[in-house]
Amino acid sequence: MEAATVDHALRLIAGYGETVVGQVRTLALSGGLAERLARRYPERHAVRTDAALYDYAQALKSRHLKTAPPLSKVVYAARLDVIQNALGTHTTIARVQGAQLKAKREIRIAALFRDAPPEFLKMIVVHELAHLREREHDRAFYALCCHMEPDYHQFEFDLRLHLIALALDKPAARAD
Ligand SMILES: [Zn+2]
Repeated sequence: MEAATVDHALRLIAGYGETVVGQVRTLALSGGLAERLARRYPERHAVRTDAALYDYAQALKSRHLKTAPPLSKVVYAARLDVIQNALGTHTTIARVQGAQLKAKREIRIAALFRDAPPEFLKMIVVHELAHLREREHDRAFYALCCHMEPDYHQFEFDLRLHLIALALDKPAARAD
């Protein structure tokens, strides 16, 4: 594994601090990252279609966000940069997206979640549902995420590791 390729992918966890980045870097360079994740998240969910995804999101919403407005649409979107559009490191984009989400009440989930552990699908759907109530990635937002999924933060971190592992598996498919 080339160090430059690894360092490019590690930008996904830059916000977690140098110590954490260093540990993941060591693991990625040794080639053990994907294996570690596969051991921790051995299952794959069965939510394969947009219809199944809608039902899945609706069930979570009924349980935790009864009073929020109904969802008009929940779909897998093929071309969606999960970090930029979903996990939201860019607040301007998140804000504009939030307005659109609020207006249309549509949820788009990056297609890579179609073939993913159930924990990561739940994490990303919980994240998008929380945006029905909270536009910004602030304390109230994450409190709502953790209310719907107590392990939210662990799953989000491990999802980022999963994305790093995917990027290292296909370095040619990098965004830049
Ligand atoms: Zn978000």
